Amino acid sequence: MWKKKDCEVVVAVIPSQMKGQNILIHHSELCSLRPHQWLMGEVMEGLLHAFSHTFSVTDNIYLLSHYTAGCILFGDRKNLPQQSLRKVNFTNYGAILSFVLVNSNHWNLLYIHAETGTVYLVDPAQKSSELKASQTAAKRIREYFVMRRTCCGKSEWVDVKWKGGVMAHPLQQDGCSCGVIVVKMAKAVIQAFPEIPEMTFSTSKKEMERERRDLALYILESSVFDEQNRCGICASSKPPGQGTAMIEWIQCDDCNRWFHCSCLSMASEDIEDAKYKRWECLLCQ
Ligand SMILES: [Zn+2]
Ligand SMILES: [Zn+2]
Repeated sequence: MWKKKDCEVVVAVIPSQMKGQNILIHHSELCSLRPHQWLMGEVMEGLLHAFSHTFSVTDNIYLLSHYTAGCILFGDRKNLPQQSLRKVNFTNYGAILSFVLVNSNHWNLLYIHAETGTVYLVDPAQKSSELKASQTAAKRIREYFVMRRTCCGKSEWVDVKWKGGVMAHPLQQDGCSCGVIVVKMAKAVIQAFPEIPEMTFSTSKKEMERERRDLALYILESSVFDEQNRCGICASSKPPGQGTAMIEWIQCDDCNRWFHCSCLSMASEDIEDAKYKRWECLLCQ
C-alpha cells in the first residue's frame, strides 16, 4: 500500500466508540503514516477509537473529535453552541481524550481528567510553556461546560474548578512526528486510566519509523470493513443518492474489491468494455 499512488479508496473502517458510527480511513489518509509524513487527523481519530476497544475503556473515557476539541480550545465563542454534544452525558465518563492542531501544523494531546479536575494540553515538541497552555485550555473547557448549561440545560462538570496540569513525556526529535507521538501518548493515557501515565517510549528516528508501520498494520487489523458487500468508495451497499434503480457493481481483477459504477462515475461504454477485459481499481492501476 505504501508504494501505490495515493487514492480515495476506503482501506479500513474502524468502529467508533458510539455504536453504529464508523470512521472511514481512505488510502491517502493511511499513507500519511509513511515515514517523514505529517499524520492526518482522521488516522489519529481512528487509532484512538481502535485503542479504546482494544483496552476496553469505551465506557470510561469519552473520545472527543479533534474537530470539536479545536473549536472548544481555539474557535470563535459564538460558534461553540454548535458543538454542545447535547446527547452526551459526561458524568458517565471519568475523562475526555482528544487532540488538537496548534498553529495549523502541530498536533497536541488534550486530556481532561475529571477526578482531579485537571486539563492537560501536551505538546510533543514542548515548544512553549505546557503549564501556561494547559491553564488557557482549562479556562476554555470551563467556558464550554457553562455554555452547555446555558444552551441546552446540561449541567454536568459545570462546577468542576478545572485547572491546567503537566505530565512528563518524551520529546519529539524531528519535524514531522508530532502526530505519531500524540497517538503513542494517547495509548499510554488509555492504558494507565484512571492514573496519569508514566511515558518513557523512545522517539528516535528508527523507533518512529517502526511505530508508523505498526500503527498502519494495527488500523488494517482493526478494520471491520466488509469488502465483499460494500463499495470501496462510499463504503455502503447502496450508492449515495440512488433510489430503487438497479445498482451496477464492478470488481477489481487485482485486489477483488467491489465498487459501485456510479461512485466511480464510469461511463456506460467503459462498464460495457470492462465486462470483456481486465479491470483494475484506482488502488491497483
Ligand atoms: Zn459506492
Ligand atoms: Zn484493486
